[in-house]
Amino acid sequence: DLEVINNAASGDSKQLKSDGVEMGGAWPGQAFSLQVDEVLFHEKSKYQDVLVFKSRTYGNVLVLDGIIQCTERDEAAYQEMLAHLPMFAHPNPKRVLIIGGGDGGILREVLKHPSVEHVTMCEIDEMVIDVSKKWLPKMAAEFGNPKLNLFIGDGFEFLKAHKNEFDVVITDSSDPVGPAESLFGKSYYQLLSDALRDGGILSSQAESLWLHLELIAHMVQFTKQIFPTVRYASSVMSTYPSGSMGYLIAAKNERDVTTPARTLTSEEVQKWGLRFYNSSLHSAAFVLPTFVQQALEGK
Ligand code: SAM
Repeated sequence: DLEVINNAASGDSKQLKSDGVEMGGAWPGQAFSLQVDEVLFHEKSKYQDVLVFKSRTYGNVLVLDGIIQCTERDEAAYQEMLAHLPMFAHPNPKRVLIIGGGDGGILREVLKHPSVEHVTMCEIDEMVIDVSKKWLPKMAAEFGNPKLNLFIGDGFEFLKAHKNEFDVVITDSSDPVGPAESLFGKSYYQLLSDALRDGGILSSQAESLWLHLELIAHMVQFTKQIFPTVRYASSVMSTYPSGSMGYLIAAKNERDVTTPARTLTSEEVQKWGLRFYNSSLHSAAFVLPTFVQQALEGK
């Protein structure tokens, strides 16, 4: 009676509860599976298929349109890297914008920085926030924080009305199929540049170097036409397809984003409750394998 969730990006909810491994979708020829203990929630929102299940070995898991978004066991790897790479590259981030991020994990990490005065978040799908509050309470812990301004709507549209406002903008989006498609194009990065204040830094979910190198190289190339500083970092991430995740980091000024502007001692790392990020890993994450360096340099 093995019931598994296949991270095969089919977008077909029937495939989610099959009892074998299916392959296809965004990652042809491969799939990742988790054993299901219990389906906790499964409904279609206005934008996507929303599923939460209790897994046998990874705690509760959020799945959107058939793709695993986060699990309680390994979420720290993604949330801490996507949030803290730009936050620690900035000397004094006060105003932060999160696009997407409905599970609340990025918000939780951003609010650990004492310099932060306001966090604005624009998530398209209220259902993701609601199910996360109920089934992923450690991620969704800060939705009641008075520093938060929450908007429900499309991140692309939201940015059009916000210029020169933020020190850091973090795009915690799903993959470029479905509602997040517009968040992977050049015009989105132009809007991000306009939304950032002088000295501002952005980070974006930027897929896996094993699976999406062409997309990553394309993103790096067009982002360089807008920002003087553009770097790509990666980290291991157990439940994302191929076990890795990438982060696009760009700055409005020329600066070395690979070196944290503020470092943490090991005591501080513990006090902040960090399970993955530390100041050495910050720099190490930007050291890329040869084939990735070559692809990003257009060789
Ligand atoms: N870490 C995850 C991953 O890559 O697997 C993504 C996390 S999930 C919180 C991404 C969120 O982005 C979802 O809640 C989704 O509803 C939201 N989202 C997708 N498209 C969006 C858009 N155009 N504007 C704002 N939020 C969007």
